[in-house]
Amino acid sequence: MSLQIHQFPCRSDNYGFLAHDPGQGLTACIDTPDAGAINDALDEKGWRLTHILNTHHHGDHTGGNLALKQQWGCTIVGAAHDAERIPGIDVRVSEGDAYPFGAMNAEVFEVPGHTTGHIAYYFAGEGVAFVGDTIFALGCGRLFEGTPEMMWNSLQKLMALPDDTVVYCAHEYTQANARFALTVEPGNARLVARSREIDELRARGLPTVPTTIGLERATNPFVRPMSENLRATIGLSGADPVAVFAETRRRKDNF
Ligand code: ZN
Ligand code: FE
Repeated sequence: MSLQIHQFPCRSDNYGFLAHDPGQGLTACIDTPDAGAINDALDEKGWRLTHILNTHHHGDHTGGNLALKQQWGCTIVGAAHDAERIPGIDVRVSEGDAYPFGAMNAEVFEVPGHTTGHIAYYFAGEGVAFVGDTIFALGCGRLFEGTPEMMWNSLQKLMALPDDTVVYCAHEYTQANARFALTVEPGNARLVARSREIDELRARGLPTVPTTIGLERATNPFVRPMSENLRATIGLSGADPVAVFAETRRRKDNF
């Protein structure tokens, strides 16, 4: 693959990501949780920042935009629908756009739910998706602005990607998500096994991000409303997928 990705922890539980195209010497950071940490990562790799790809407007995703733009003169890409909330935005993208990055394209998915203007970036040729706070390993973003139906449709868009797609989500929430997931789908053997692996990784201080679409499809309760075990556990055996998703999200909010 021609896209080199460097992931690093920052703030309390965010991940920063640099995506580098060695062919043209381009480097994008996906969101700007912490300008200092991003500059340290750029130093470490010897890369120059040329782009910021924002997923949504929250401070832990755009907080470093203006400082980094002033320092590097980089191009800031964000959602057209949310342009007024993306500091320093230069390029406004919408569903279906293919933003050129070196020899690659970042395909834009509108994935509202966590916020109404949330987008994800999919590098199809590289099999990589940057999803911000839409889907997490074993979790999904809180519904600060959108409805359950909106978020369900957004998650379905991501779940339509190939199983081996590598998914970079913006937070290390996985251990807490696993504890919750086990309460709603205790009969999922792959979930039980994965939660043990997560505990082992975290005990050694290692990240559980990235994940893959296939792994989430098999273990993440927020994209598994078809699971009989999940439905029975939350008392919604005959309900439609949106109702099952909404109840799962409600229970997680109160967990
Ligand atoms: Zn957020
Ligand atoms: Fe966030």
